[in-house]
Amino acid sequence: MAEELSIPPSPLEKETVAERVEPVDWLSSSAERELQKDPMIGREGAMLGPVKVVHAYWLAGMSCDGCTIAVTGATSPSVEDLLTGRLPGVPRLVLHHPVVSVEAGDAFVKNYELAEEGKLNAPYVVIYEGSVANEDLAKETGGYWCAMGVSVMNDPYEGKPITTAEWLKRLAPGAAAVIAIGTCATWGGVPSAYGNPTGAMSVMDFLGKDYRSALGVPVVNIPGCSPIGDNFTETVAAVLLFLNGYGPLPEFDELGRPAWLFGETVHRRCVRAGYYEEGVFAHEYGDKECLVEIGCWGPVVQCNITSRGAINHLGGCMNTGGICIGCTMPGFPDRFSPFYKRPPGSLVSTSASRTVGSFVRPLRRLTMQFQNREQLWDKRQRVPSGWGNVPEPGLLKRSLHYFYEKLQFLNAEPPGRTKPEEMYTGGYEVPGVRPGQSGARPEQEPK
Ligand code: SF4
Ligand code: SF4
Repeated sequence: MAEELSIPPSPLEKETVAERVEPVDWLSSSAERELQKDPMIGREGAMLGPVKVVHAYWLAGMSCDGCTIAVTGATSPSVEDLLTGRLPGVPRLVLHHPVVSVEAGDAFVKNYELAEEGKLNAPYVVIYEGSVANEDLAKETGGYWCAMGVSVMNDPYEGKPITTAEWLKRLAPGAAAVIAIGTCATWGGVPSAYGNPTGAMSVMDFLGKDYRSALGVPVVNIPGCSPIGDNFTETVAAVLLFLNGYGPLPEFDELGRPAWLFGETVHRRCVRAGYYEEGVFAHEYGDKECLVEIGCWGPVVQCNITSRGAINHLGGCMNTGGICIGCTMPGFPDRFSPFYKRPPGSLVSTSASRTVGSFVRPLRRLTMQFQNREQLWDKRQRVPSGWGNVPEPGLLKRSLHYFYEKLQFLNAEPPGRTKPEEMYTGGYEVPGVRPGQSGARPEQEPK
């Protein structure tokens, strides 16, 4: 008798969400779950798109976790956008992170092992937070500085911690890109400052000048202490677009910084730069003017926080009254110390600004006074404001303004019709139509 064929019910016909969705085993490794979803058939070693998924391996060296906190606050794009694959053209990111990942213990470390063994079904990037300690120094006393997971040799009780420097060494060659996040990872930062007992260094120093990722990319550096979360997520999204074949490799400067984010000094887009230009400076915190004389290094620091904001386009050092201490720069902190002291080179530039500003400021105030008036108020020689008395400009100001206007309209016709034949009877103007032009009314035609 022929066997009766039965069609399994469609997932949509199942009654509850629990029936439709397979239960997730949170104790398994997320990289393994990805492999079950989408086995790597014919995709071994594939790096460039189209790719559906990219794994991100987060490693933490000598860090305070501030970079992680900054990134979880990013909004454009947000981490959630990257993890859910919501951005058009950007593959979904599977993040393996020692703090925010759901799985723990062996299941968590398994993710890293799969990448090291080349058993993933997708490309991966390595993200390093914190500086890389010199583990050889720690070994001298039998210890270690920063580690994640253990390597078990023979006896499970004899597991040895695997340092994050070691993980970096193992994963960097096969990564599509290595991204150093935060000033500790990009330039060494605070752990590598004067008196550094751990030999802490940047990812670039650790991997060396000749390091190239599997795609031929040197270390990508996103500095800041802490960095702007959006600077990181935006760069990751741009790199993922490239991996998916939808965009070129984003432009990086000679130190591996995203050029479009770090190409300008923070001073150029500072909300207080207008004060600097007019030579007006703050004397104490809380003043609204330029902060250079109380310690701001903004004019020589490559950073975009004044235009980007710290989180969700809000906040950011000088926007909220703080000085720039150069936290995105390779020389930070030693070359910017002592903080809260006037930067040595600023005396020359602030003196020049003061000199120029002493001429420019009064001229601008004069122009403002006249630009703040309607034409009618000029004719009536009074301002009908009930809010306060607006004094009429005196003879000196009117004379200065008269010559200034002459200069302003030297090679241009001033607005309005000043000749009698261009006006209606009674002196009213007809905007945009001159006598003799088509559209002119009879009363506009010359008599
Ligand atoms: S506060 Fe700093 S960055 Fe802003 S204008 Fe002054 S010197 Fe430049
Ligand atoms: S403005 Fe200066 S201190 Fe503030 S984030 Fe930028 S580099 Fe760091």
